[in-house]
Parts: sequence; C-alpha cells; structure tokens
Amino acid sequence: MNLEHLAWPFFESRHAALARALQDWAQAHLGDHAAQDVDDHCRTLVRQLGAAGWLAHAVAGQAYGGAADTIDTRSICLLRETLAHHDALADFAFAMQGLGSGAISLGGTPEQKAAYLPRVAAGQAIAAFALSEPDSGSDVASMACEALRDGDDYLLQGQKTWISNGGIADFYVVFARTGEAPGARGISAFIVDADTPGLQIAERIALIAPHPLARLRFDRCRVKASQRIGPAGEGFKLAMRTLDVFRTSVAAAALGFARRALAEGLQRATTRQMFGSTLADFQITQAKLAQMATTIDSAALLTYRAAWQRDRGHGVTREAAMAKMAATEGAQQVIDAALQMWGGLGVVSGVPVEQLYRDIRALRIYEGATEVQQLIIARELLREQQARPPR
Ligand SMILES: Cc1cc2nc3c(=O)[nH]c(=O)nc-3n(C[C@H](O)[C@H](O)[C@H](O)COP(=O)(O)OP(=O)(O)OC[C@H]3O[C@@H](n4cnc5c(N)ncnc54)[C@H](O)[C@@H]3O)c2cc1C
Repeated sequence: MNLEHLAWPFFESRHAALARALQDWAQAHLGDHAAQDVDDHCRTLVRQLGAAGWLAHAVAGQAYGGAADTIDTRSICLLRETLAHHDALADFAFAMQGLGSGAISLGGTPEQKAAYLPRVAAGQAIAAFALSEPDSGSDVASMACEALRDGDDYLLQGQKTWISNGGIADFYVVFARTGEAPGARGISAFIVDADTPGLQIAERIALIAPHPLARLRFDRCRVKASQRIGPAGEGFKLAMRTLDVFRTSVAAAALGFARRALAEGLQRATTRQMFGSTLADFQITQAKLAQMATTIDSAALLTYRAAWQRDRGHGVTREAAMAKMAATEGAQQVIDAALQMWGGLGVVSGVPVEQLYRDIRALRIYEGATEVQQLIIARELLREQQARPPR
C-alpha cells in the first residue's frame, strides 16, 4: 500500500513506524483466502492480531494491556486502513475488539477492566457490542430490551440484532432499558458473558460479505449489578462515546478498501490490451483514475483531520460524520469504477474487486447510516448559525 500520506502533518513519527510495521506484518500474514469457515477464520485472526500486539491499540489503559492510557484515534485509523487494504475480515476482527470492549475502556471499573481488557488485547477473548434491535436501529434510543432490577441482579429481557461477532463472542456489552427516565436517559450498559443462562443466539445472519453476525435473545437473563458499566441510566451516553471513538475508524477502513481498489484498477488499466493500446491510454479511463485518486485523497484528509483533532482533545462530531460519509460513499464509487475496469473478470466470485464491492456496502449503513451523518453535519451547521449574532 502507498504510505506517502504518513508524511502529512497530522502524524507523528510513531504513527509512521506503526503503519510501516503493520504493512510488513500484513503482507506476511494476511490475505490467505483458502476456504475456511468464517467463524474459525475470525477466531484465528483475533488470536493472530492479539499475539502480534496490534490489538493493544484497540483498548485503553497500559495497566490492562493497552498500548496507551487512551485510545489513539490516528493509530486505530492507520491500523484499520492498512488491515482493510489487505484483508476485510482482519479489519473486522480488529475493529470489533475495540468497539466491543470500548464501553469498558471508557467507563468500566478497575475490576471490570482487569477482568476483560487484557484478554481482549491479547486476542484471548472476543468482544461484541449489542445496541441495535429489530425495531430500533437508526433510532436507537427507542430500544425495547429491558433490564429489570432484581435484588443485587438485573434480569435482561428482549432482543438485539445485527450483532457482529454474535455466536463467537466471549462476552457482549449490552445496552438495555433500566427506566430511570424516558428515552435515551433510561438506558444502562452491561457486560454479559456468552455462557450466561438466558442468553441465546436466536439466529445467525448470513451477509453479502460474511462475518459472524447474530440476533440475540435474552430471556430472564440474570446479570449481577456489578456487571453494569457506569451509573444506571448513563448507558446511552456511553454507547455514543464508544461510537464517537470508533466512527472515524470506519472511514479509515473504507479508505483502505478504496486504496486497494485504485491499485487493482491501475494494474488492470495499464496491462489490458484493447484497440491497439492499453485501457489506460484512453482519456475516459484517465478521467476515472483522476476522480478515484481525488476521492481517496479527499476522504483521507477528512479522516485524518478528524482523528488528529480528536487526539488533541477536541470535539469531532461534525468532522467524524463528514469523514465517515465521504470515505464510505467515496469508496463505493472508487470500487465500482475499479470493478468496471476489470470488465467481466470484475464480477467473477472471489476476485479482489468483486470482494471489495461486497465488503464496502455495509459501511454506509452501520455506526450511523449516511443519512444520519448528513443530519449530524447539518445540525451542527445550523446550531452554529443560530449562535451567530444577527447581521
Ligand atoms: C454488517 C452489519 C454489522 C452490524 N454490526 C452491529 C453491531 O455489532 N452492533 C450493533 O448494535 N449493531 C450493528 N449493526 C446495526 C447497524 O448499526 C444498523 O443496521 C444501523 O444503525 C441501521 O439500522 P437499521 O438496520 O435498523 O436501519 P433503519 O434504522 O431502519 O434505517 C434504514 C435506512 O433509513 C435511512 N435513514 C435512517 N435514518 C434516517 C433519517 N433520519 N432520514 C432519512 N433517512 C434515514 C438510512 O438509509 C438507513 O439505512 C450492524 C449492521 C450491519 C449491516
């Protein structure tokens, strides 16, 4: 992968060293697409990523196996960009360890952190983040899954769906209604071990780009109050803070896919002979290549601006939304253009551009669909406008 953007002022020398080391590791260890069960493949990748030390960047707290005391957004973005370029499932495995344990990193007690984070960082425990429900996806504050207090415990009742790592996770961070107040202010977060009685994998869901995914059912699932993360009623804020850390990294993953697609497009365009020249000799192709490269650089600038700004302690609500929207929508266009350059070969099952075409699609939907990002950006703009003195 071309790493020339590491010279941008957003990065420190440690970032460049990290990205280069991962690039070497990924070339040596990833991309073996021999037919393998997706669950087993994912478990293997988590173990490999942990053993090599990459997962340490996905958790916070050096005392708990983390690379630093806070999650460095530029590091996780560079890691996801590089992993996505080489292997979408490796990127998924990395991202879910971070997202699935993020609420513990941000709001867990020392005991909760000690019990879960070192195993997540070592790749010995698989994490999952259970927020969405069949009737509450984009409108997540309308969730119905309940956690009713019962002495020192809570009883979880309800469903969660689209849960990545569902079926292979060792624990789930589950968001459920505890009723302190209506809507978003009456939700709490819980760590639920996968073998807790009353937690069932109700359905495994097959995807166009396979990764482990399930619908979960909770039927009087008893969880100790000590497994609640943070104060009762504060779970929605914790979910949003977790997503806030990882949203920019979704943009970075899209960027990795897009860079891979451009490389594939360039390779085909410069070697495919037609009409007495190569595909790349035609100006229509050159215009497409120019557009692809510009889309990628725009997305990269937005992504690393958001990551850099977040690492400096600034709010990035608008910047992260812009990065996610531009990078995921842009990557879809870049991948489509690359596939077109491959002609019939581009739609053959398993070739890289066909794989990328399926890999990118879900990124425009999860962790806030593009339309939700548009609303966030517009809301921020309108708020600023209203705060300005009248002219
Ligand atoms: C592959 C994959 C993995 C996932 N992993 C997880 C996970 O690990 N944990 C988890 O909790 N969830 C996960 N999700 C769920 C994901 O976050 C939701 O799918 C997403 O929030 C959208 O919710 P929904 O599917 O219910 O779509 P809906 O909320 O029904 O939205 C449908 C569409 O409506 C549009 N839309 C939404 N809001 C607006 C609006 N205000 N105005 C106009 N249009 C709008 C968007 O185009 C959206 O795609 C995953 C989803 C996928 C596809």
